[in-house]
Parts: sequence; C-alpha cells; structure tokens
Amino acid sequence: MTANPTKTYLWCTKCRRSFRHEDAPNNACPVCGDELHAIGKWSALARGIMAQELAPPEIKTKHRQIIRMIWTRNGMGEQYYRVLLPGIPYNRFEAQVTDLLCRGADEGWARFVIPAAPSDDESSYRLEFDDEDRFIAELTALFSPAN
Ligand SMILES: [Zn+2]
Repeated sequence: MTANPTKTYLWCTKCRRSFRHEDAPNNACPVCGDELHAIGKWSALARGIMAQELAPPEIKTKHRQIIRMIWTRNGMGEQYYRVLLPGIPYNRFEAQVTDLLCRGADEGWARFVIPAAPSDDESSYRLEFDDEDRFIAELTALFSPAN
C-alpha cells in the first residue's frame, strides 16, 4: 500500500462503506474481514452517501466488534486458527467465527456476558456456552475440508 493514509480512506466493497486507516489495521475490513481498497476522500464521501441506506448501523457494527474482541482475546483467535487450519486468511477466519458466534448468541447456544458499565476487569467480559458441543460441531461444519 503506497497510498498516503492521511489522504485516503479504505473502502469495503462487500459492506459498501469506508473506514479510516486507523480503524482497519492490516487493510482488513473490521466488519467482514475482506480486503479493503484505498480510495480518495471525495470518492469515499460520494460512495458513502450512495451506500448509506445499505450500511449496517454503527451501533450494530460496534456490538459485533465487541463480540469479536471477546472471543479473540488473549490469543484465542490465533489458537483456534492454528488448530482448525481453515485454509483462509486469518482476518476472514476471524470474521466468519464472529458471524457464527453472533448466530449462536441469537439462537441461544452461546452467550456474551458484558458488565452493566464499562469495566477494567477483563474477566467480566466473557463468552459462555450453554452447549459447547454445538459450537464445536458448528465450527467443524464451517471449516471442514468439504467446504
Ligand atoms: Zn466489509
């Protein structure tokens, strides 16, 4: 990437929205993990206006980021990656597992515990499973060689 980071934004084709460079380390979309493309400020603005109706609300995006941070914390994301060897780039793996866990939370077999107020105690943010076997079965299905 040779583009000047102060003059460009990063665009995700899939999410149809732009990100600032500091919000997207490794040029990976913080929402879906896809590779981002640098675009100029005016282009980002124009595309952003056109895409606004399609973009997920910011609060939902942040909620998803918190879920991602909870399950990948303390190197857990990399550990899962090393064990599963999914054959896709890490960023994409992280996004797919985050999607899976969001579905798990929706369906009730995974639960994200978040303190009532922001806390320094990291252990008060955690992932719990009502059914850990379900998570393992879902992970295996998602990243089995057949897929
Ligand atoms: Zn994206």
